[in-house]
Amino acid sequence: MKSKIRKLPKGRRDYLLKRIYGLLRSDDISVVIIQLDGYQGETDFETIWLDPRKKFLSTFLHECIHVFYPALAESKVLALEYRLRESLTNRQWLNLTRRLLEVIQ
Ligand SMILES: [Zn+2]
Repeated sequence: MKSKIRKLPKGRRDYLLKRIYGLLRSDDISVVIIQLDGYQGETDFETIWLDPRKKFLSTFLHECIHVFYPALAESKVLALEYRLRESLTNRQWLNLTRRLLEVIQ
C-alpha cells in the first residue's frame, strides 16, 4: 500500500515560506548557479550553490532548511524538504520561482 504523504500544516508551511522570503530579501545569503560535482546543492550559510542540471528549486528549499536549522541531521532535512515540497500550492511554487530568479547570481 502506498503511504500517504504527510503534508505540513498550513501554518508551518507559511512560516517556512516567510523565512525563505526573508532570507532572499536579506543580504545574509547569495544564491549562485554552478555545476557541482556530485551534489545537487550546497551551502556554507552565506552562499547557496545550486546545480542547474538538477531540480534546483527543490534543492533551494533543502539548502534553506540547512540554513534555518544548522544542527538538523540530513535525514530530517530531507524529510522536511519533502513535506514542504508536497505542501506548496502551484501559486506558491510560481511566486517562489520568480523571486528566486530575481536574486540568483
Ligand atoms: Zn542536505
